[in-house]
Amino acid sequence: MSTTIKAFGTEASDAPLKQLPIERRNLTPHDVQIEILYCGVCHSDLHQARGEWHNTVYPCVPGHEIVGRITAVGDHVTKFKVGDLAGVGCMVDSCRECESCKEGLEQYCENGIEGTYNSPDKYLGGVTYGGYSEKVVVDENYVLHVPENLDLAAVAPLLCAGITTYSPLRHWNVGPGKKVGIAGIGGLGHMGVKLAKAMGAHVVVITTSPSKIEDAKRLGADEVIISKDPEQMQKHRGTLDFLLDCISAEHDINTYISLVKRDGALALVGAPENPVPIAAFSLIMGRKSFAGSAIGGIAETQEMLDFCGQHNITSDIELINIDYINEAYERLLKGDVKYRFVIDMASLKNLII
Ligand code: NAP
Ligand code: ZN
Ligand code: ZN
Repeated sequence: MSTTIKAFGTEASDAPLKQLPIERRNLTPHDVQIEILYCGVCHSDLHQARGEWHNTVYPCVPGHEIVGRITAVGDHVTKFKVGDLAGVGCMVDSCRECESCKEGLEQYCENGIEGTYNSPDKYLGGVTYGGYSEKVVVDENYVLHVPENLDLAAVAPLLCAGITTYSPLRHWNVGPGKKVGIAGIGGLGHMGVKLAKAMGAHVVVITTSPSKIEDAKRLGADEVIISKDPEQMQKHRGTLDFLLDCISAEHDINTYISLVKRDGALALVGAPENPVPIAAFSLIMGRKSFAGSAIGGIAETQEMLDFCGQHNITSDIELINIDYINEAYERLLKGDVKYRFVIDMASLKNLII
């Protein structure tokens, strides 16, 4: 029924990640097995591993920016063959019957998505385990084709950071003639800048880090605002058609909303631990919208990967070995990564049990 494989995870919110064995189901007819080559390190992995969303089931094996190669396919698989490159993002299944699933918006499945990690595992019981592991077994309908022309390690972050920024940029019609702000230049934010630029928008970066000004311009920003400087924030009040907030920690949302134009919107993708207090007049004065957005559907994730293939877009990464993960988390908290850690999964394979 299942096979034991190597993984890296944590057994408590205050425990470091370490090597631990997990079970992977044997292939059902619609499954593919993927040997994981690279896995990105999303800030959500850290939130989840440390129990910051108060729903973590331990042991927890994070990782939802997975790229690898197909090593086996079930009898009824039609979309992939052994040897193909493949990607897996934040979800590995959904009900497929609700309105959202039928519209290709599986991320909003009304019966709850099956997350790549920390979701009930309907095959083996317990919870699903993510990509900090040797292999993953996934229904082919939740697996993506990866463009062959891009650097594979730098593609991994597209599976979460890429789609999480691409989807709202498309939904709020970002493109030529639009001024879009991207706040928080981490894994998500730096992808947001690249994608918004490739969509033809005028891109304004809002960052707490003066050290990122030059980088922001290289990534595609037309203007940069240092959010800690009230004068700069004041100067840009009411100028943005749309603001994508990719910030992982608490911040004064009202000052960010003040950057948005009348009838504009601020969408949160960042998911800090605590509620976000909004002053009513921040929205009332200017008929502004405050919204949120979660990853993207499977079809849209494929569209994003193909868009990145065409525009030669990947993530800026720092490649690490798996036994560096705890230090990587500490650096992530300090904003000390340019701009995504990606784990070379060969380093897990080479570890002795
Ligand atoms: P990250 O790489 O750690 O980047 C977060 C950035 O936020 C930092 O680089 C920093 O940018 C900014 N920041 C940090 N603390 C701040 C503070 N106190 N005030 C203002 N800005 C601050 O994180 P990530 O992986 O991009 O993820 C960002 C957030 O999105 C996380 O909360 C994650 O869980 C969430 N997420 C949501 C979805 C979804 O579907 N909605 C998907 C994936 C991730 P600067 O240095 O530029 O200020
Ligand atoms: Zn993520
Ligand atoms: Zn559904």
